[in-house]
Amino acid sequence: MLLQIKDLSIKYRSDNGDVKAVNNLNLQVDEGRTLGFVGETGAGKTTTALGVMRLIPNPPGEVTSGQVLFEGQDLLNASEDEMRDVRGGKIAMIFQDPMTSLNPLVTVGDQIAEMILLHKDVDKEQASVLAGEMLEKVGIPAGRKGEYPHQFSGGMRQRVVIAIALACNPKLIIADEPTTALDVTIQAQVLELMKELKHEFNTATIMITHDLGVVAEICDDVAVIYAGSIVEYASIQELYENPKHPYTLGLFQSIPDLEDESEFLHVIDGMPPDPTDLPTGCSFHPRCPNAMPVCSQKTPGTYDVKAGHQVSCFLFEGGQE
Ligand code: SF4
Repeated sequence: MLLQIKDLSIKYRSDNGDVKAVNNLNLQVDEGRTLGFVGETGAGKTTTALGVMRLIPNPPGEVTSGQVLFEGQDLLNASEDEMRDVRGGKIAMIFQDPMTSLNPLVTVGDQIAEMILLHKDVDKEQASVLAGEMLEKVGIPAGRKGEYPHQFSGGMRQRVVIAIALACNPKLIIADEPTTALDVTIQAQVLELMKELKHEFNTATIMITHDLGVVAEICDDVAVIYAGSIVEYASIQELYENPKHPYTLGLFQSIPDLEDESEFLHVIDGMPPDPTDLPTGCSFHPRCPNAMPVCSQKTPGTYDVKAGHQVSCFLFEGGQE
């Protein structure tokens, strides 16, 4: 197992009380696999990723419990030197807006070379050659390495960010909504590129998204997150054929169906919970069509409905399907 997150909890202090962003979250990613990390905005997806990278600003944020085991090492106890090695070298992150991760004043070639120099034992000249090769791999001619980010379109800039992320051949890439800011055709091209590179480099990926279409396109496994906890985990095929958690079912019903002629789009009733005041018991109970009295009193455990398919819901307490 490449990455294992155990009982991770992260909170932010605010004037309105503690924001419980991540709550006893458990997750694992195996080598070379792509995990879709799916949930609504504010569910805790990005906070979890920043927690793995040890990039939670403290204060106001704080990891209050848990372990993040990467190749067996607990990153939460690693030294800052060790973390510098991990960031970029072993785990790379791709953000939604490429302009936030690119330096507008430095050529794209130099930005890729910089990452290579940080983590590989090569000289400047070799790093520059490798930077050109990385650009070619993401479909940009090496001859453009002397250009600046503003000379590229949004989709091309995201390709540059992917080249930087892959430059040191990391074991894991965390991609946070990498195609959300792009228009639909460019989105498809970038996803296609990520799929190809995944096969070539055998890099594991956590694909953070709110879009089940993106998940279907690229992921092997899926974790559904609600109010900072994983509520369902399964392989892509199993989740799409056999979704179990009432929240996952709601997400699927919210996908527009072009063949359905009814005027209304199904939405999940109610609003995501206030993270400063999470409901007691199962966090989903105020919105759940199947809620039972126990759901507001006790927090459900995680139950196996079959091998590799876990659901956090009392309906599956006996493991029955
Ligand atoms: Fe619904 Fe209860 Fe299951 Fe929560 S535990 S999802 S409220 S049935």
